[in-house]
Amino acid sequence: MHVYSDPASERHVNRTASVEAPERFPAALAGVEEAERAGVEVKRRPCAPAPRSALEAVHAPAYLDVLEEISVSGGGNVSLDTALNAHSWEAATLASGAAIGAVESALSGTAAFAIARPPGHHAGRDYGMGFCLLNNAAIAAEHARSGGIERVAILDWDVHHGNGTQDVFYASGEVLYLSVHQSPFYPGTGDAREVGEGRGRGFTANVPLPGRSGEDLYAEAFAGFFVPILREYRPELLLVSAGYDAHAADLLGGMRLESASFGRFAAQLAALAREVGAAPLALLLEGGYNLDAITASVAATIRGVEEEAPAWERSGDVRPVEAARKALAPFWESLR
Ligand SMILES: [Zn+2]
Repeated sequence: MHVYSDPASERHVNRTASVEAPERFPAALAGVEEAERAGVEVKRRPCAPAPRSALEAVHAPAYLDVLEEISVSGGGNVSLDTALNAHSWEAATLASGAAIGAVESALSGTAAFAIARPPGHHAGRDYGMGFCLLNNAAIAAEHARSGGIERVAILDWDVHHGNGTQDVFYASGEVLYLSVHQSPFYPGTGDAREVGEGRGRGFTANVPLPGRSGEDLYAEAFAGFFVPILREYRPELLLVSAGYDAHAADLLGGMRLESASFGRFAAQLAALAREVGAAPLALLLEGGYNLDAITASVAATIRGVEEEAPAWERSGDVRPVEAARKALAPFWESLR
């Protein structure tokens, strides 16, 4: 496992959202150390800021200019809940660079985790919101595509729907976006009937789950929806938007996952990647607001990549998963 991070992650302060705290970064790195103590071999890798060309593959140049200007001038808001300080531009471009690094490691045959902040999945082509400035997952996916990778999947298990990632690829048939999230909840998107548009129809796959859902419902989302779609799609690269705010102890989310749940998600996806001949997983940190839960969940995720997949089987009796299957069935034979 390669871990990409940079100390700049701790210098970004969003003064309008104290939960997205600088302390999240050392908490996540403590999870890496915990995994090492449990016997996982980890190599730490430095990262470089994502180059302008990589940022512009996802974001509008004018939006990037605004972010940089706000940060250079000392800070300010890009939306109601999302503010920058003088270090935010550096931190954000390094977070995208960490995600790019993780993708390069994965494509070279080693699973990798980009541990950085600010998170990215609520940021769209020309907007930042939900504590997100640059869409690190989308930037990393486009980076892989620019290197000749044709089938990229992004699986997002953050408790919030990744509206930014969905928007970026909504009309694209080249990047498959899959999300399981709490609903109704912020940011209000991610209905099962949002399946993509134009050439992107069928390449957005949402499972909105009710609050208080536990691992049993997530297991059904994997076994009954994500796994069959991914088996049929056969991604060359599988990126994971790994947020930890669906943890039972999280300060924002209302779900009931345990730290070990994330380990089983990682084990399931790592096994699937091997099965379809994809690169090892490239994971990147999204949300997660309880520091102890972040540490334990990051550790479980890293260990999970090397563990045996859980024996989850579809039951067919979880209504939101069945609704998601129905919405995507026209596009994926394995759901019919
Ligand atoms: Zn979140």
